[in-house]
Amino acid sequence: MSLTLHDTLRREKRVFTPRDPARVTLYVCGPTVYDYAHIGNARPPVVFDVLVRLLRRQYGADAVLYARNVTDVDDKINAKATKEGTPIGDVTARYEAAYLEDMSRLNVTPPDLAPHVTDHMDAIVRQIGAIMEQGCAYAAEGHVLFDVSSYDSYGRLSGRNLDDMIAGARVEVAPYKKNPHDFVLWKPSKEGEPSWPSPWGEGRPGWHIECSAMIEETLGLPIDIHGGGIDLVFPHHENEIAQGVCAHGHAHDPHAHAEYSRYWMHNGFLTVDAEKMSKSTGNVLLLHDLVQNMPGEVVRWALLSAHYRQPLDWNQALLDQSRASLDRLYGALQRAKAKGGAIPADAPEDVVHSLEQDLNTPAAIAGLFSVASAIERAFNDGDNVTGRRGAGRLKAAGDLMGALQSDPDAWFSDGADDALKAEVEALLAERVKARSAKDWPEADRIRDRLSALDVVVMDGPTGATWRINR
Ligand SMILES: [Zn+2]
Repeated sequence: MSLTLHDTLRREKRVFTPRDPARVTLYVCGPTVYDYAHIGNARPPVVFDVLVRLLRRQYGADAVLYARNVTDVDDKINAKATKEGTPIGDVTARYEAAYLEDMSRLNVTPPDLAPHVTDHMDAIVRQIGAIMEQGCAYAAEGHVLFDVSSYDSYGRLSGRNLDDMIAGARVEVAPYKKNPHDFVLWKPSKEGEPSWPSPWGEGRPGWHIECSAMIEETLGLPIDIHGGGIDLVFPHHENEIAQGVCAHGHAHDPHAHAEYSRYWMHNGFLTVDAEKMSKSTGNVLLLHDLVQNMPGEVVRWALLSAHYRQPLDWNQALLDQSRASLDRLYGALQRAKAKGGAIPADAPEDVVHSLEQDLNTPAAIAGLFSVASAIERAFNDGDNVTGRRGAGRLKAAGDLMGALQSDPDAWFSDGADDALKAEVEALLAERVKARSAKDWPEADRIRDRLSALDVVVMDGPTGATWRINR
């Protein structure tokens, strides 16, 4: 079996072959740490976490090198620090810590490398210097700008044509720009803003240059896979390629883009109740709030329920469905636990194969349901060993999705303290008695008491399981 990935640049699915199977490199654009991440920001780290799990399974845990940067120099960070009257480092430290905490709730494995812009200023200045030496950038009024007309393949990733772009230009045209699409590599800092020394004066880097400089310094060129949200294709990733290629003197080489990243992957947009998330409509959902109110695994499952390249609409039905899916799968694991526990086993081939087909998570989820059904069948037939081995397969497949690793009893009673657990168990025992005595008024009374405790009871073939309704 082999891994096939959709490459944004070639606009087709391609069999993935790393440059060096002993050192598979992946870079995903990470957070700008000036505020809490919204749910749309959570989609790339979760999607690429599944990819990393799959790559590690195939090439070995130590053979994959995954970098996700932290943008800790940005106008929005400066604005927040000024507004709060706090040092910039306090703002970035606070929101980076919150980001990492939220990621761990989503079961996202931390990247191997998390380069920060403030730690790589020398590399950034060096790369800007190299681009200028190649004649692909120019200094003007304290700024350094990339000259887009100097790179023959500019627009290739996003499928844009530079002449059309110029004709339809709506970008801010600064008087010192030769071309409206020229973008900032370095700019002067205003009074009170953080700044670093450079041959072009005290200032700070533009956004795009940080990634191309840090990729080269931390992973080395070319990397195997570059990932991010689809909103980054243009201009961020288009500009990254231009910088990475031109710094090495390949501005006129039509094949040089492959010397930057060999595969480009982008996840689709996320909407909320069928609308674009925006501060003006007030429908921005912060990940930090979501994971306070429900298990992070439900959020993760919802993010993986659609194929990563498809748009995903975030709504209550999606969350209810994700919760119900996980309840069903954990229910199978709970049944196995009661019969002696899961027997370790490999993930089923069809689930692995689905993920190898450009991370087809909906098909993988369908595969997990088949395993859960097989477990139930085996236990119903009294074949405990098959049921328990099935549970091992389910857990192994769940691990590739970054889910199903909790204790199943803890999953269902999550949020309940010992006193509540004892009360619920006692009520369920009374309910069994009332039902077998056909005492329906008593059974109804118990049901009402359970729902007053915010407990949802799920009746299954071997009895009832329950969970707190959150
Ligand atoms: Zn980036």
